[in-house]
Amino acid sequence: MADCLFCKIREGEIPADIIFENDDMLAFRDVNPQAPTHVLIIPKKHISTVNNLEESDEAIMGKLFLTAKLIAAQEGVSDEGYRLVVNCNEKAGQTVFHIHMHLLAGRAMIWPPG
Ligand code: AMP
Repeated sequence: MADCLFCKIREGEIPADIIFENDDMLAFRDVNPQAPTHVLIIPKKHISTVNNLEESDEAIMGKLFLTAKLIAAQEGVSDEGYRLVVNCNEKAGQTVFHIHMHLLAGRAMIWPPG
C-alpha cells in the first residue's frame, strides 16, 4: 500500500528497530514506547483494520498471536506477563491503518485501560 507507514517499514523505506522477521510477520520497537518493552507486530500483508479481515486471513492472525508469544519469550517477559493490544479505528486510538499488535511489558498494567 503506497501511503502506508508500516508497509514502508516492511519495504525498508523507513528505518525501524526490527527485532523479528519471517515470511509473514515483522516486529519492531515502537518509536514512542508506552512501557519498558513496547513492540509492534505486523503481518507483512497490508490489512487496514480488524474490520477488513477476511476468512482467508485466519491463518495470518493465528501467526500474529504465535509471533507475540515468541517475542515475549525473546524479550524475557513471558512469565512476568505482558499486554497485547489491537486498536481498531479512531475511537480506539488506531493511528496507523495497517493491522498491528502492541506487545507491552515491563510495568504493571492497569484495568480498565485508558
Ligand atoms: P496505533 O495507535 O494502535 O495505530 O499504534 C500505532 C503505533 O505506531 C503508535 O504506538 C506509534 O508510536 C507507533 N509508530 C508510529 N510511527 C512509528 C515508526 N516510524 N516506527 C515505530 N513505531 C511507530
